[in-house]
Amino acid sequence: MREKLNKFMYGRYGNDELNQFIFKLVIGSLIISLFTKGITYISETFYYISICLAISVYYRIFSKNIGKRLSERDSYLSYRSQYKVKMAKRKKHNEEKKTYAFFKCPSCKQKVRVPKNKGKISIHCPKCGVDFIKKS
Ligand SMILES: [Zn+2]
Repeated sequence: MREKLNKFMYGRYGNDELNQFIFKLVIGSLIISLFTKGITYISETFYYISICLAISVYYRIFSKNIGKRLSERDSYLSYRSQYKVKMAKRKKHNEEKKTYAFFKCPSCKQKVRVPKNKGKISIHCPKCGVDFIKKS
């Protein structure tokens, strides 16, 4: 049985991170479909979406066009790492919002960070040198 499977999978692409991601979408769509049973058209739409996604997972696993699948995987991985960087930046910014106030320089639009709750302060833009007054 195992040998048969190996023979069948020979020259085929197999599983990867993109498939694992699509598979999560399949599960997600099925759950949404289950929880929207009262609203038939939404429930059916997500059900068909999950079927299409599941088909694409199997299509990719059994695909013999390995080069194409690898380039899909590469785009997915680069998109995912960009997304992670973006999320980390957003998290850092949210942390900083607790102790800093952010303003845009009226002259060059440079983002400037100053300590919060200092009342009316004069802010010196580090980029273009303009001074402006803001309440922090
Ligand atoms: Zn400036």
